[in-house]
Amino acid sequence: MDSFAQMMSALNELELEEKKRKLKLSSTLIMKHPRESMDHQSPKEIKKAAKDSTRRTCVRCCTLEPKDVPFKACGGCHSAFYCSKECQKLDWAYHKRSCLTAQKQRRLEKLGGALVSNRTLFSYLNLAIILSLGLHKNPSPPSFFTAHVTLVIEPEDIIDFGRLQGQIGDEPPTRNAAGKIKGMLQIGTVTPLPDNMGLGSEEDLRRRTEVVFQENSTKYAPDCIVGSIVLTLFDLGNFSQPNPVNGLQVPTIIDADMILIARMAEPFHLILPSTGEVHEKPMAVFSCMEYINMAIRQDHNNRFLLRTEMLKSEEKNILDTASAAYRKEDVQEFAWMCIRRRMECESVYQALRMWKKDQNRRQSLA
Ligand SMILES: [Zn+2]
Ligand SMILES: [Zn+2]
Repeated sequence: MDSFAQMMSALNELELEEKKRKLKLSSTLIMKHPRESMDHQSPKEIKKAAKDSTRRTCVRCCTLEPKDVPFKACGGCHSAFYCSKECQKLDWAYHKRSCLTAQKQRRLEKLGGALVSNRTLFSYLNLAIILSLGLHKNPSPPSFFTAHVTLVIEPEDIIDFGRLQGQIGDEPPTRNAAGKIKGMLQIGTVTPLPDNMGLGSEEDLRRRTEVVFQENSTKYAPDCIVGSIVLTLFDLGNFSQPNPVNGLQVPTIIDADMILIARMAEPFHLILPSTGEVHEKPMAVFSCMEYINMAIRQDHNNRFLLRTEMLKSEEKNILDTASAAYRKEDVQEFAWMCIRRRMECESVYQALRMWKKDQNRRQSLA
């Protein structure tokens, strides 16, 4: 027998031993009843029986769903069912709030999950967090950190962003057949986690983070910084009603290399395709955000899975930031600021302003 075959047979024996052990263990745990009849259904039968024995009811009028004509689900959240269009219409005033919350939570899980699973984008997000919390400057960094990242849905086309804000003549933004604007995820803010978000104490967060690491048997070096990032979708509700927030908690490990990159502070290079000019952008929270946001903007084929149709409420967020009245309301100030500040820092918005100026000049000449 060659060494490979020997290894395989040893492995098989090991597996067999393991199976025997399990069999032995389970055979010691038997419970019987004198009247039992041992005919368990198959999983398929159980599923079918469950379907037959339960029925949906119309959310509005409680009519039972007939077997042959399934009720239609709410197109927004897919979790409320109605017997008729009339019932859905009548229920909307009540369903509206929970529908939006359900939709947003689904979006957050889908888009936030894709963002943190993208190794490149996530490493730059970690860099932004290091800079925002000053972990690179701290000679004895904390063993645990918490950070808050706000995600924004914006039109994927910068011109549509301008149109939505009403800055480009009377032209409306481009909409698809369903009347929706094509949108994409952008990073809105990267900050320390405020303590009024209803997520429990730092100790609670640390405990929850450790549970996730244990479940995934994650090992980390002693010089790493372990932390928890809370992702929320840019939503006024999050700020005007502090508790609790619909957030996505992301347990994170920041290794010494990332801290080193932050300390070296090499600038980003911004290349203008029209002229080939290279501009330097300093290593800063806003540059890291711009790097991620630009990478998503350029992902036209949606390889990152960070594109989505915009919800009406998300359109309104952007529309509102353009109006002066918006600034007056204190609770919304943070939300307003996070779009406005990015518009001042990120090159794409500067390009939009230039483009607009150019358009206006042409119009006045014509
Ligand atoms: Zn009904
Ligand atoms: Zn709904």
